[in-house]
Amino acid sequence: MRVFEIETSGSISRSGMRELDYCLNPYLGCHHGCTYCYAIDMTSRRDAAENWGEVVYVRRNIVKNLAADIKGLRRGTVGISTITDPYQAVEAKYRLTGKSLKILLENGFRVTLQTKSPLARLDFHLLARYRNLADIGFTIATSDNARTRLTEPHTPSPGARFRTIKEASSLGINTWIYFGPIMKGINDSQEEISAIMRWASSSNSRVIFDFYRNYEGSRKTIAASGLNPEGLSGNDAWRERVSSAIIKTAAEFSVEVNSEEEEWLVERRKTFRTLF
Ligand code: SF4
Repeated sequence: MRVFEIETSGSISRSGMRELDYCLNPYLGCHHGCTYCYAIDMTSRRDAAENWGEVVYVRRNIVKNLAADIKGLRRGTVGISTITDPYQAVEAKYRLTGKSLKILLENGFRVTLQTKSPLARLDFHLLARYRNLADIGFTIATSDNARTRLTEPHTPSPGARFRTIKEASSLGINTWIYFGPIMKGINDSQEEISAIMRWASSSNSRVIFDFYRNYEGSRKTIAASGLNPEGLSGNDAWRERVSSAIIKTAAEFSVEVNSEEEEWLVERRKTFRTLF
């Protein structure tokens, strides 16, 4: 992995996602290198996008900028790292996610994070202290190690993520599992769905699920892994069948589940309940 430190203007920006008011990305590029990643198309640094998983830019002045940028800013929900992983390996050295999180929570913003890394433990004390304002999700696209290596080459194992989310939940932190992107023939089996729901149930986490969409940038990385990107997104009938199986299995495990489509409404309600 090649890491470059850069200085950029600004820190927090308006989010284009319905469930968020703002987003903040301390890093550009992501060492986890997931082949299906939608952020490849959104990463402004060409070398990071073209060598996905190999190049990471560190916005080293983002914390200083953030302290100035939030003055007078209307409170709302901030997604930290919407186009990268907030707890990828460089976070252990730079702690830009942790410092930004602290500033935002101390100033009354709601914060939501999504990661695949046990390094999130570094901030469990903050997430527990501000449990009314914060939540954290762990992406577990598959419970299977071989399929994880195929689609997420540099990520921590699914089991490590499960142990971390279980620990977070035991500390009273609001947790959720992101089951996705669901890809035809990779992680759409009943066995897989049951494994995810079992983990969600035993970590007291709700589940958000979503399907792979044939993102432009990901076609190259998926093809390089030996899979056919066109075959992964399935058709409407397949999505309906898998969605029904997820909802039915979630009910059997008494797990709260929402599709990504429904999630924005859930998030909006939380924002209004906690901030206004
Ligand atoms: S961890 Fe998230 S941002 Fe990073 S490569 Fe994987 S999907 Fe993309």
